[in-house]
Amino acid sequence: MITYTCPFCLRSQSGMDLELPEGAETFTATWRECGHRVSVPVAEIIPPPSFPRQQGTAGIARFRCPRDCGWTHDEFTDPGPIPPVRLPARAKGSTLAEVLSSTTEEEISAAIGAAAEERAHAHRARLEQAYAAHYELVHPGIAAPTLAS
Ligand SMILES: [Zn+2]
Ligand SMILES: [Zn+2]
Repeated sequence: MITYTCPFCLRSQSGMDLELPEGAETFTATWRECGHRVSVPVAEIIPPPSFPRQQGTAGIARFRCPRDCGWTHDEFTDPGPIPPVRLPARAKGSTLAEVLSSTTEEEISAAIGAAAEERAHAHRARLEQAYAAHYELVHPGIAAPTLAS
């Protein structure tokens, strides 16, 4: 069962109501049991990139400003090698073969998944920071866009 935790009183409850007044830039969330209510603005969404010069996998992804001011931000589409994985604490041995045989395949798979996720997280943070810096400079007072999750 899904529960909704109210950030004001921390009571978990069975439901939350969302209201979006027509033409408004904010929506209202009301937690059903405690009645706490908050009006929340929504950040713009970082638009999907274009790929201006794609050669195999070594291209760039070009992100543009959703306010169409002409600003763009480039990221490499090939994020490079996966960062080193963190093996479970009980992994041991003096050669890689020994280390790998002291762990299970599930653990290795989970460690690779975690490293990939960390990299995706770093990419997301870098992108959102670039937009935040641009907005501060060129669109002050407007919430910087975030990636849709
Ligand atoms: Zn509450
Ligand atoms: Zn802009």
